[in-house]
Amino acid sequence: MKKTLKQLAAWLNEDMAALGDTVVSGISIDTRTIQQGDLFVPFRGEHTNGHKFVMQAFEKGAGASLWQKDEPNPPEGYPLLFVDDPELALQEMARAYRNEHKAKFIGITGSNGKTSTKDILAGTLAPFFKVQKTIGNFNNQLGLPITILQLDEDTDVAVLEMGMSGFGEIEFLTKLARPHMTVITNIGEAHMQDLGSRAGIAKAKFEIIQGMQEDGLLFYDGDEPLLKELVAKEQQLQSVPFGLESNNLLYADNIHANADGSHFTTHGLIEGDFFISVLGKHQVKNTLVAMLISHKLGLSNEQIRTSLEHVVLTDMRMQQVLGTNGALFINDAYNAAPTSVKAAIQFMATSTIRPEKWLVLGDMLELGPNEQRFHEGLAEHINEDEIDYVCLFGPRMLYLYKILKERFEAERLLYTEDDYTAIIEKLKQANESSIVLLKGSRGMKLETILKAFTS
Ligand code: ATP
Ligand code: MG
Repeated sequence: MKKTLKQLAAWLNEDMAALGDTVVSGISIDTRTIQQGDLFVPFRGEHTNGHKFVMQAFEKGAGASLWQKDEPNPPEGYPLLFVDDPELALQEMARAYRNEHKAKFIGITGSNGKTSTKDILAGTLAPFFKVQKTIGNFNNQLGLPITILQLDEDTDVAVLEMGMSGFGEIEFLTKLARPHMTVITNIGEAHMQDLGSRAGIAKAKFEIIQGMQEDGLLFYDGDEPLLKELVAKEQQLQSVPFGLESNNLLYADNIHANADGSHFTTHGLIEGDFFISVLGKHQVKNTLVAMLISHKLGLSNEQIRTSLEHVVLTDMRMQQVLGTNGALFINDAYNAAPTSVKAAIQFMATSTIRPEKWLVLGDMLELGPNEQRFHEGLAEHINEDEIDYVCLFGPRMLYLYKILKERFEAERLLYTEDDYTAIIEKLKQANESSIVLLKGSRGMKLETILKAFTS
């Protein structure tokens, strides 16, 4: 974005402050990461008041700043734009900038796989278009407007992640971004606490079509009956189901993982053999979305194939790291919910990369009153003939431990409530023939264990 303060004021229906010809070229809510020329947006939060940092923002190169009208003592002689509510103003500016932007907007939601899909898609399109995507996890009512306002004017494709924890949130985001294409990656169990059931989660994700352009296209997990049901009720909706089941318009089979990534074959809208340097069937599904959207934007199968080969994923999502003990770690410690843990265990069970298989699992957080059932439910996916060692970390993993200890000998099963060292000691047994999955919720910080084997 490159705008004068005067133009921003017009978007916001505000009278112009002094220095209206000042040009801003981006947006920032944090003086630690502010860039030259950014418009600084101060928020009054519970603990701090962003207005205290406005002068610091100017010292660090801010082009201008918003200022909440009822906040006393605005600094004189600086380019300030006075608004009633900086958060609303941020959203309003994003809406206005979105409406004049010519890029193709893609909105991605789902319980798991939003960031992975976003990264795979942006990586696939990058050689052919100017692509910008949500940075990190900036996927909520603040992050999305910031992402939009950071778009360059000549960007061709904007890939936007949309997250939520309750009803109405995706509706808000999609109406702001007005995407040309939308994606629902899957339906899991996260946020059950707020949404009541998996059907509730599906409904909340499905809000994404509400802001879609009239001729827009929805891509959805066609292996998920709840989504199929919702799609069937929408007469006007154009949609493409993808997945692993053969009744999808695009599906993958023949999935083989090696140490570098996954080979797979696709059928339906795109036919052929492909490779992507990520692991797990669930990541192949995410890749199908990237292929479909690339196809829709005009790429040939050959262009898609070569491009996929060069895609790199964000850290801590099935990332492969060679440990100092010789073991191959699959670091998926970024987050965990029942669906993604099951997918990762399934990957381990069927993987042929290394013969000796270790699971290091940490608590899954934020599951609500059914957390015991979800932790116990993992047991049926952990087969003692397929998995060699299981290390469990966290108070909730005790539920799983109690079941597994009936089947696993003591030597092959370890439980600790909060002691990383116990697991690190155990993992010293792992070696060149071992593959080790690290998977747990963000709060469990399982990467602490990996650090012991990487430095
Ligand atoms: P967040 O809500 O934290 O932003 P996200 O939806 O962006 O999550 P990712 O960060 O891409 O999801 O992946 C989170 C976890 O889910 C990872 O462990 C990943 O391996 C797993 N995962 C990714 N895609 C899928 C999928 N389609 N189905 C099940 N699990 C998946
Ligand atoms: Mg994410």
